[in-house]
Amino acid sequence: MNYDVTVVGGGIVGLATAHRLLAAQPQLKILLLEKEAKLAAHQTGNNSGVLHSGLYYQPGSEKAKCAVQGLQQMLAFCRAHGIAHEQCGKIVVATEAAELPRLENLWERGQANGLQGLRKLTPAQIKEIEPHAAGLAAIHVPQEGIVDYPAVCEKLGELIRQAGGEIKLNTRVEKMHPAAGGWTVETSAGDFPTKFVVTCGGLHADRLVRAAGQTPLAKIVPFRGEYFQIKKERRQLVRHLIYPVPDPKFPFLGVHFTRLVHGGIEAGPNAVLAFAREGYQWTDVNLRDLAESLFYPGLWKFLVKYPSMCGYEIRRSLSKAEFTRSLQKLVPEIRAEDLETGGAGVRAQAMLPAGRLIEDFHFEEARGALHVINAPSPAATAALAIGAKISEIVLTRLELSGENGSMKFSLSPARPQPPARGQISEAPRIARRRLCLRPKSQFQNQIIDQCF
Ligand SMILES: Cc1cc2nc3c(=O)[nH]c(=O)nc-3n(C[C@H](O)[C@H](O)[C@H](O)COP(=O)(O)OP(=O)(O)OC[C@H]3O[C@@H](n4cnc5c(N)ncnc54)[C@H](O)[C@@H]3O)c2cc1C
Repeated sequence: MNYDVTVVGGGIVGLATAHRLLAAQPQLKILLLEKEAKLAAHQTGNNSGVLHSGLYYQPGSEKAKCAVQGLQQMLAFCRAHGIAHEQCGKIVVATEAAELPRLENLWERGQANGLQGLRKLTPAQIKEIEPHAAGLAAIHVPQEGIVDYPAVCEKLGELIRQAGGEIKLNTRVEKMHPAAGGWTVETSAGDFPTKFVVTCGGLHADRLVRAAGQTPLAKIVPFRGEYFQIKKERRQLVRHLIYPVPDPKFPFLGVHFTRLVHGGIEAGPNAVLAFAREGYQWTDVNLRDLAESLFYPGLWKFLVKYPSMCGYEIRRSLSKAEFTRSLQKLVPEIRAEDLETGGAGVRAQAMLPAGRLIEDFHFEEARGALHVINAPSPAATAALAIGAKISEIVLTRLELSGENGSMKFSLSPARPQPPARGQISEAPRIARRRLCLRPKSQFQNQIIDQCF
């Protein structure tokens, strides 16, 4: 079979892309390839399960728009398909005076991003929502919620198959060669000819660009986020979602409390360098992955920029007492004995050679290919909006010809657009297009955009 579009990656972004393509053009022949035995095996299936609202992002940016639109689309999808979710609301709590101006900044962003029903809370009002939380002030975000992202992915997979798309699990993409009219995608399960390729490879996003014979702008550096679970008898300490105010000195957030949609409360995630791209614990070491990270100058520049944060994160990962102390800022009654080891997720963080993290959703285009390079949080919440954007671009690159019933897609002879002007300027060899363009942002904005 000669496919019109092959999507690589069975995480939520790849699935949403395939789903949106088929919804827009049901006659497309779509193939989705996933190397694991199940969908949502990596970031999507190991995240906090939070439906973000768009509170943190630069007003007017595509990331903010995707989060706001994506949340509504995800809620509608969950309602339509009976997927477990709940808009339980969240509070973002300032526990020190220094955090109050930043809380105010979040308030302004939330207003500018059009979030409805935001409320400023006094210490007494914090207690009405979360009786065991403590803080000087807080923002209540009623839109936010929790969801079962693996169930969203299973449903997307079902809809793709029902619409005539094919999903092949246990199929690792190894190489992609330009061929007449498109590409040959070489995999562990054979070769697949296709007109267009979209890669949504998460922790392997940069490698997929190389597998297509191009040079990626950034390297994926894996940062593990570890969680604790609160013991059953102490779960009354947290009712909904309790988040700290992001600290502008650090590129990762402080740990927070998350109620899970199927029961239980998680505390985390922290952020430590993973020794394998799919390294869910300290003992998971992949020498190729580790060597690539350690020989990457960007990582060393990053570590030099944030030495105290990196040291602190390692200490906190190794010391339950340290982890507990950071949780006690939000919920003073929590004790180390209340916590048992939980799961972990690994963030695919695109890092530039200068040591800067790419904040925005970011993708790169070549003729007949679109590579999603950076889809950090809130990309799970925003997946349906991101998928719709990618689908729109792919369809402009494919030419539709023929009458109904004998429609054919072929690769448009037009070259991809030149690189968009924005904050990323490092020697692109292929056209780069960013979902979110904005002027070089303030440091604080970079941090806020990492929010989980
Ligand atoms: C700890 C943590 C907490 C988070 N919390 C939230 C949250 O609460 N809310 C939120 O909105 N976002 C959250 N995020 C972010 C969110 O999970 C990601 O933005 C989103 O899941 C990215 O989806 P994806 O499809 O791009 O990547 P992934 O889910 O990682 O999927 C990529 C897929 O590509 C496959 N693949 C890679 N290479 C190949 C290959 N060569 N051949 C075939 N298949 C391949 C992989 O196996 C994988 O299944 C969190 C992330 C982490 C790590």
